[in-house]
Amino acid sequence: MFLTISTTGTHERPATDLGFLLHKHPDKAQAFSTSHGTAHVLYPEASAERCTAALLLEIDPVALVRRGKGKGKGRGGAPDAALAQYVNDRPYAASSLLAVALSTVFKSALRGVCAARPERAAEPLPLRIEVPAVPARGGAELVRALFGPLGWTTVDVRPVVLDETFPAWGDSRYVQLVLEGELRLVDALRQLYVLLPVLDDAKHYWVAPDEVEKLLRAGEGWLAGHPERQLITNRYLNRRWSLTREATERLELVRLAEADDIGVEAIDNAVDDPAPDDEDTGTAEKTEKTEKTVSLADQRREAILTALRDAGAGSVLDLGCGQGQLVQALLKDVRFGKVVGVDVSVRALTVAARRLKTERMSERQAERVALIQGSLTYTDKRLKGYDAAVLSEVIEHLDLPRLPALEYAVFGTARPATVVVTTPNVEYNVRWETLPAGHVRHRDHRFEWTRAEFRAWADAVAARHGYAVRYVPVGPDDPEVGPPTQMAVFTIAATDTKKEEKAA
Ligand code: SAH
Repeated sequence: MFLTISTTGTHERPATDLGFLLHKHPDKAQAFSTSHGTAHVLYPEASAERCTAALLLEIDPVALVRRGKGKGKGRGGAPDAALAQYVNDRPYAASSLLAVALSTVFKSALRGVCAARPERAAEPLPLRIEVPAVPARGGAELVRALFGPLGWTTVDVRPVVLDETFPAWGDSRYVQLVLEGELRLVDALRQLYVLLPVLDDAKHYWVAPDEVEKLLRAGEGWLAGHPERQLITNRYLNRRWSLTREATERLELVRLAEADDIGVEAIDNAVDDPAPDDEDTGTAEKTEKTEKTVSLADQRREAILTALRDAGAGSVLDLGCGQGQLVQALLKDVRFGKVVGVDVSVRALTVAARRLKTERMSERQAERVALIQGSLTYTDKRLKGYDAAVLSEVIEHLDLPRLPALEYAVFGTARPATVVVTTPNVEYNVRWETLPAGHVRHRDHRFEWTRAEFRAWADAVAARHGYAVRYVPVGPDDPEVGPPTQMAVFTIAATDTKKEEKAA
């Protein structure tokens, strides 16, 4: 069984860069042993203009049988089951085994990393992918329905005839698949990694709990919005109900976030980082200028850290942690023994994990930190029992009618002793010359509050849930319009703590 990946190029942007992206040199034929046979990577052509990499998997059917996993499902009740174990489609059809080989051989490419050609890895390439025999359970129509919405300009699916000498026998269960289009290599590989087993629908290995994680990671950016996501999820997880349900719920969160346009690539600080310089009218004092060289985001993080240290917090939740900058800063201080980042966006969490290098952390460090996916508008048992929670530039990303749900989940249910909330001060926007009048600082901000509006909300929240609240300006505190960022520090009222201790 095999597949080929081809690209075209020019002298300046040679097609042979494909070798860097796949982490496999075009001049070498390489072999890798996998649990089901040997995987070969070779390049039938490799010039600046055209380059093709082929992945060839030589299955050892006997090894498959020994592992007791070669049978698959739906073999039409072969009369001689013992023989069918040895004589089956495994050796030549691009089944889930090919997906496993893909993930073994192109591990780094599937993660999208390419130190040698980072810019090429990040950009779409003209790609042509050919798989001569895909087992298409669900028919050619399903193959089109699966690859159709994924950005390819051509999805060519041709039924493979059962036997060329006897055309009357009709088509086999296999199709030849050719995909053409401009996609990032990593996206193409991730699609194949998920969809080949889905089309095979006879996963040969035991579906482990971390399959959900694998599916979500490989499905990043394309699965949540896919019209066939339910079928993909069911088949990929071998219809294991509990896993399917978990995956469906998590994909739904991602889909909602995407529909809400909670994009993380541009999220926040798009305007408010460079702006403090624009605000400089030339009359500012020198000391103020020094202050301005530290970005507002940095000042905000410092202010939050100070509030948490003052509160004596040892365990901290960073709610809506985004790409994990605050989590990273918290980990640098040993006073924070446990730091948990929560976000609805898998994408943000992936970036955060990369930033924190969670995979390479020492065991001790890894125990201090966790990144979890969750939505802050739903109560969540996992958020109980922490000393403090931070909502840094998060509330303004929620539609106002959803804010009471967040209030209930954080102040009513999780109830940490300290809650730090920051949000832009809309009054300050006039100080930013780059910001057209009446505009918010970021396209995803659903609202921006004046100081009075923020205080009205925070005072009411504190009163409803038994907290005291104080306000801290972040950034230059303008005598007229106040600071660019406003921060509220909530502390649970002492009597409340006692009441709760008694109740517990
Ligand atoms: N705290 C970070 C990121 C702020 S951007 C910082 O200060 O820089 C807002 C973040 O909130 C995004 O990462 C977004 O995905 C997340 N978010 C928005 N609505 C959410 C919700 N309902 N549940 C969980 N996270 C949410």
